[in-house]
Amino acid sequence: MIDFRSDTVTQPTQLMREAMMQAKIGDDVFGEDPSVNELERMSASLFGMESAIFCPSGTMTNQIAIKCHTQPGDEVICDVLSHVYIYEGGGIAANAHSSVKLLQGERGKINAEMVINAINPDDIHKPQSRLVSLENTTNRGGGSCYNFTDIQSIREVCSTYGLGLHLDGARLFNALIAKKENPKQYGEVFDSISICLSKGLGAPVGSLLLGKTDFIKKAKRVRKLFGGGMRQAGFLAAAGIYALNHHIDRLEQDHQHTKLIESALMKKDFVGGILAVETNILIFEVKGKYTAPILSAILKERGILAISISPTQIRFVLHLDVTPDQVQQTIDIIEKL
Ligand SMILES: *Cc1c(COP(=O)(O)O)cnc(C)c1O
Repeated sequence: MIDFRSDTVTQPTQLMREAMMQAKIGDDVFGEDPSVNELERMSASLFGMESAIFCPSGTMTNQIAIKCHTQPGDEVICDVLSHVYIYEGGGIAANAHSSVKLLQGERGKINAEMVINAINPDDIHKPQSRLVSLENTTNRGGGSCYNFTDIQSIREVCSTYGLGLHLDGARLFNALIAKKENPKQYGEVFDSISICLSKGLGAPVGSLLLGKTDFIKKAKRVRKLFGGGMRQAGFLAAAGIYALNHHIDRLEQDHQHTKLIESALMKKDFVGGILAVETNILIFEVKGKYTAPILSAILKERGILAISISPTQIRFVLHLDVTPDQVQQTIDIIEKL
């Protein structure tokens, strides 16, 4: 099977497994796991941020961040397609007791003007606007990337109105590679950044939350509250260190593979609109002789797994376990459909 369901399905490479088995470990709830400490130091310094905390999932890093930025009754501003809103089990309400103002952005991206219009006045009837949460790349937006100048404009609005600015950077490295940006640019403008090691970077488990020292100290308390304090987590941290050292530049290959599949699909009459490929995610509309569920079933019979994310849309996600040969096989299969 060629698995395009998600970039979370990757398995550790042989070299990553070796790095994991050789990890120096300790009890991280005591702060004594050398590999976790190294991963946290290394990631914070990569982004020029003060501190970092290693967590089991990106949902947890996002939820911890939102809880740390808000008080019950506050309001979080984000795009209607945001993972923090649609895919985290209602966590903003359940964990942070906060309300959400949803914006209709473009492919999951919002802009400074929309944010200004969404900020509530100082009125006792209204929740207090407290946090803006952005996503880069956007998942439901089909791997779309922000222009950094748009992020800078949103930063200015947040500074003017005293709002926190969080980044759900589950696939931030895909954006950095696609846009040829530097992680330190992001460290300068965001108050907190969540990055996933278990997506395109190919680690089996783990995400990092980055921020100022005081913020991460608070985050450590919330991680314990959420049950996310892990003991000898160094085995997982070692995979993360390996991923940061070896798996960032290769994301370019996933992006090229995604574009090749996009070109093959463009020639087919059962393909409606395609969200123009920017990184490693491809979302397209199915029309004519197939519906999305039928097409995904046919693909499965031919050895290709791809999710139908709505009755009319199919998603392909490229990652490090898809080889160039498998991309060619996929194109051959698409051509015969
Ligand atoms: C995958 C993902 C997350 C985190 O997911 P986990 O499965 O909890 O690690 C967060 N945000 C976005 C945009 C994602 O795609």
